[in-house]
Amino acid sequence: MSILSTGAGELLAQLNRGEITSVELTQACLNQISQNDMNVGAFLHIDQDYALEQAKAVDNKRAAGESVGPLAGIPVAVKDVVCHKGQPCTCGSKYLKDFIPPYSATSIEKLQAADAVLLGRTNMDEFAMGSSTENSAFQKTHNPWKQDYAPGGSSGGSAAAVGSRMAPLAVGSDTGGSIRQPASFCGVVGMKPTYGRVSRYGLVAFASSLDQIGPFGTDVTGTAALLQALSGHDPLDSTSINKPTPDLLADLNQPLEGLKIGVVKEFQADGIDEDVISATDEAINVYRSLGAEIKDVSLPHARYGVATYYIIAPAEASSNLSRYDGIHYGHRAEEFKDLTDMYRQTREEGFGPEVKRRIMMGTYTLSAGYIDAYYVKALKVRRLIRNDYDDAFQEVDFIASPACPTPAFKIGELINDPLAMYLSDMFTLGANLAGIPGISIPAGMSSEGLPIGLQLLGPPLEEARLLRAARMFEQATDWHQKVPELVAQ
Ligand code: GLN
Repeated sequence: MSILSTGAGELLAQLNRGEITSVELTQACLNQISQNDMNVGAFLHIDQDYALEQAKAVDNKRAAGESVGPLAGIPVAVKDVVCHKGQPCTCGSKYLKDFIPPYSATSIEKLQAADAVLLGRTNMDEFAMGSSTENSAFQKTHNPWKQDYAPGGSSGGSAAAVGSRMAPLAVGSDTGGSIRQPASFCGVVGMKPTYGRVSRYGLVAFASSLDQIGPFGTDVTGTAALLQALSGHDPLDSTSINKPTPDLLADLNQPLEGLKIGVVKEFQADGIDEDVISATDEAINVYRSLGAEIKDVSLPHARYGVATYYIIAPAEASSNLSRYDGIHYGHRAEEFKDLTDMYRQTREEGFGPEVKRRIMMGTYTLSAGYIDAYYVKALKVRRLIRNDYDDAFQEVDFIASPACPTPAFKIGELINDPLAMYLSDMFTLGANLAGIPGISIPAGMSSEGLPIGLQLLGPPLEEARLLRAARMFEQATDWHQKVPELVAQ
């Protein structure tokens, strides 16, 4: 097996045992990028010298017998929405094209403390708004399995980087599915932790009550190791959970006994792709054969999820994005008549069409005449959705569903139909509304040869058990070992 087709967990073990060096692995990733990224478009920014410098430093530490961090020497790609001091952070927006953050996010500092190699910055939908990465102001990202297909979004660059084995691990953000949906489209593992598990200090805000940073990986073990490194209380983020992070790796290979898995009645709706239905059924059968009891559960308010999310997320976005005023930082129009015109021109030039759509929707639902009918109502429905999950988790340990109603769609297919694009999040956004953790794991292939992900959702703070359940599936199947053609075996 080539270094690139080796799973992230095994690569970490090989680095630890001294069987490979970080420089070798980092160079292999950089070669894969230079040979393929012109076709995939996963990265917005790569600094080869910086990557190799970090790799050398870790190898030297190891050679000198010094203690190294838990991600020592493994390359990690980072979505271009997490501030890294001195590196670009565009958020896929023209507005932040030249923005270089003067500070690093807590996640970046944690990755550095864990001795990871920060490989480069990945493409995304502008300000993380989208499900296809087509809303990036800079480039399209292509699905590594079939290049006329979208990689999903908004963390499409991170998912495509891992899917094409340009990086064994990557960081993304998930507000309504932006880690799990692209993970499903690109055939990799992607996890949204419990709200507050990972500090968001230094994550550029989209919808603050929903945003969460999380890991992508080529396998569950690597994903767990990355989440472990990212997690923990941070006084700089008032929403960060002040509880110790459990050890996510200690019992990862121990199968869970007496597992009860819920299948949601309301998710068995029309419009779900046949291949997705059969892959999900087969995946559930795998759990059954591993001794799990499968039970029907009900989430009676799930059908209001898309509407609720698309009121709350744009409302918060319209407020968060008011900071882009052409004064503090970022783009400023060159020609304007007066101050108001400067704001108008700056925002007109700086934002793309989807971001403008969100700002308008959000401003509308927050406006004096409509706030009760839309925003306040949506908050109430959100509580009911959370209660549904609480009730379901009285009956089952986890909920299994497709990560997305379809495998990857074609680039250009949905971009002019925002509603159809929004529906792509129907299975993922409930976890953000409820604040619970969710994971997507490779669980099948469509007849066209595109990956299909299984989503598992768990109760708040249950990441360790959720990862164990995912690992059980991985040990029983080989979907995670399938790689696209552009990965040399
Ligand atoms: N696709 C969803 C949206 O466009 C979710 C995005 C995300 O999770 N960042 O809002």
